[in-house]
Amino acid sequence: MAEAFFTEQHELVRKLAREFAETELTKEVLDKVEEEEVFPEEILDKMAKAGFFGIKVPKQYGGQGGDARSYVIVMEEIARVSGVASIYVSSPNSLSGGPFLLSGNAEQKEKYLRPVVTGEKKVCFALTEPGAGSDAGGMQTTAVKDGDYYILNGRKTFITMAPLADWAVVYAKTDMSMGTRGISAFIVDMKQEGVSCGKPEKKMGVVGCATSDIILENVRVHKDNLLGQEGKGFINAMKTLDTGRMGVAAQSIGVAQGCLDEAIKYAKERKQFGRPIAKFQAIAFMIAEMATKLEAAKNLVYKTAWLIDNGQDASMAASMAKFYASEVCNEIAAKTVQIHGGYGFIKDYKIERMFRDCRVFTIYEGTSQVQQMVISGKLLK
Ligand SMILES: Cc1cc2nc3c(=O)[nH]c(=O)nc-3n(C[C@H](O)[C@H](O)[C@H](O)COP(=O)(O)OP(=O)(O)OC[C@H]3O[C@@H](n4cnc5c(N)ncnc54)[C@H](O)[C@@H]3O)c2cc1C
Repeated sequence: MAEAFFTEQHELVRKLAREFAETELTKEVLDKVEEEEVFPEEILDKMAKAGFFGIKVPKQYGGQGGDARSYVIVMEEIARVSGVASIYVSSPNSLSGGPFLLSGNAEQKEKYLRPVVTGEKKVCFALTEPGAGSDAGGMQTTAVKDGDYYILNGRKTFITMAPLADWAVVYAKTDMSMGTRGISAFIVDMKQEGVSCGKPEKKMGVVGCATSDIILENVRVHKDNLLGQEGKGFINAMKTLDTGRMGVAAQSIGVAQGCLDEAIKYAKERKQFGRPIAKFQAIAFMIAEMATKLEAAKNLVYKTAWLIDNGQDASMAASMAKFYASEVCNEIAAKTVQIHGGYGFIKDYKIERMFRDCRVFTIYEGTSQVQQMVISGKLLK
């Protein structure tokens, strides 16, 4: 049903991404990632060469110049096998590349976006603070003008890839009296004086993509590294998150499909009371419900991408897709554990990792409650 959104070209992209995921992201590789908490550079190189880091980035900056549906397909297929691997795909296409695509000048795009797309460099997106999560506009990080420089002070928290990044897009207040209109975006070199990272967080899931705080102490940023206009940083962040939400929604349907595949396989194999557990209606109906909700989630995600590809407003659709797909993914993962019985609780089975990986999908890039605020806000205005 959901296939109606795609062309033959999209199906080729799906085939390529699926083959890549199934060949490269083996159980052996993924178990090692969990154990060592590091993602192999050689697989990241292969992802970059396959063009996954610049799916939506125009060809002039080294990307594929693809559409939103191609991005969704690649995210879905990679996440179906590995949630953490899909974060490495989403980052350059979305949270790291997005701010440059939206507000960067030609020089900034050439200098920062191109090496991110080719996989030579990494950029992180630093919006959240210890006291400002859902209410990102309440941030306290400041950027005070000093001649040709801005002096940045503050602390960002939960920043994906911060310990691995070469640069960060940091959102800071250039005018404390202007609320969100006083927020500006800066490109910060992670190696420069005054920048440091907190310890990598020990996370429940998506292990293998380090997350940490970024501490900024009197960091001097040249005015050439202001991204977009002063005071327009919050708009940049919110627009970046609009696309980001579609990416998390795509991750969610990918992991959910991976779980459903495991649930069906296991239900047919596992015998109790002299027959496969799939023969018990309680299990069969659980699978029917999981598949139906996943299909509904896929339609929301694909429609969001289709709207973007057809130049239409996709802001509400993206929030609905992220809200529904991430919640449904968690429900499907939990039911897949249930279908596995005690084995679902043991690390040897893929579902144990998938169950943990998807927990963050209803939290990052706007919690489910924030998505409901966006949706209801639009309906009730
Ligand atoms: C693994 C991971 C990676 C992340 N990566 C990044 C990153 O790369 N860059 C970045 O900037 N941030 C990142 N984040 C931060 C993430 O976006 C925030 O955690 C998220 O926005 C929620 O903020 P918070 O954790 O402060 O929760 P809070 O905002 O404190 O929310 C706590 C609870 O209250 C609810 N709540 C809050 N306000 C309301 C309201 N008005 N109405 C109803 N309910 C409400 C929330 O939904 C939630 O359930 C990451 C987080 C994690 C866990």
